[in-house]
Amino acid sequence: MNRFADELLRWFDHHGRKDLPWQHPRDAYRVWLSEIMLQQTQVVTVIGYFQRFVERLPTLRDLAAADEDTVLALWSGLGYYRRARFLHAAAKLCIERHGGELPRELDALMALPGIGRSTAGAILAQAHGLRFPILDGNVKRVLARYHGVAGFPGESAIEKRLWVHADEHTPAVRTADYTQAIMDLGATVCVRSKPACLLCPQAASCVAHRDGLTAVLPTVKPGKKIPTRAVAMLLLRDRQGRVLLERRGPTGVWSGLWSLPEAPDADAAPTAAARLARVRSIDALPAFTHVFSHYRLDVSPILFDHAAPLARVAEGTERRWCAPADLAALGLPAPVRSLLDNLPEITP
Ligand code: SF4
Repeated sequence: MNRFADELLRWFDHHGRKDLPWQHPRDAYRVWLSEIMLQQTQVVTVIGYFQRFVERLPTLRDLAAADEDTVLALWSGLGYYRRARFLHAAAKLCIERHGGELPRELDALMALPGIGRSTAGAILAQAHGLRFPILDGNVKRVLARYHGVAGFPGESAIEKRLWVHADEHTPAVRTADYTQAIMDLGATVCVRSKPACLLCPQAASCVAHRDGLTAVLPTVKPGKKIPTRAVAMLLLRDRQGRVLLERRGPTGVWSGLWSLPEAPDADAAPTAAARLARVRSIDALPAFTHVFSHYRLDVSPILFDHAAPLARVAEGTERRWCAPADLAALGLPAPVRSLLDNLPEITP
């Protein structure tokens, strides 16, 4: 075995994480689900979501048979909902093409929605012990520092170099443990700011540690300012406390989730609300900002209490008046759920 893997596995035997829920049992469906949830999200946050998800949908077949609302509701709060939709679509394709199992070939896995080379490698290594490297964000950080690779790891030339290093270090034995070990090292020791090099099994050969470069490697993304957009969210609430929700379209942010009707700004809100219901009282709630990866959204929530449904605005699969008790079963964007959970009492 190579020295890098050898040191890492020795460290893993003492300090690695061996009690994560997706490790018991470590089957392909559970590894896959955990890998998708862990993209952009930390382990501590993922654990609860993972457990609820597998309790409700314990197998790939259960996931494929579930309706989209169920999947999105289980994902609600994790963000990046495209991941959930891809997961769902991939499960259905596995039923159609692969006899209800995740395939064991790299190319066939990568042909499924939402599965890139690193996720495919993690599934093959962790669930089947096959020798495939991974290169998620944590691993990129470790390898960029260890080998002193400068340049933004999102650039394809840099990423290619890191894949070469990832491949050369991946051992043919204990591949599953090694894969977990390098993810753990990045998540707990070689962390983004102030890595704990004194506790690191790779410190003796690490270029960034030797040359004092841990603060500048990996190279950050060249600066990019994100734009700001604004929207007014309309909270139309009837006398029973039900709120009017609309399903968002199939593209764009929060696609397919249930959300609130919108107007371009607070001034346009009363007219937009009057198209949906008869409204009497109007109240501006505290504004807030939600940050997406590519823009900031300034939200002005406007509450219209004592709203009365209009006969011409029909309910159906795209629009419904929803009682507070029914919200838990719906896929809602996290800021909308928080808004609905914290509404003031209905004015008499
Ligand atoms: S020695 Fe420090 S910088 Fe190098 S891999 Fe270990 S924690 Fe990361």
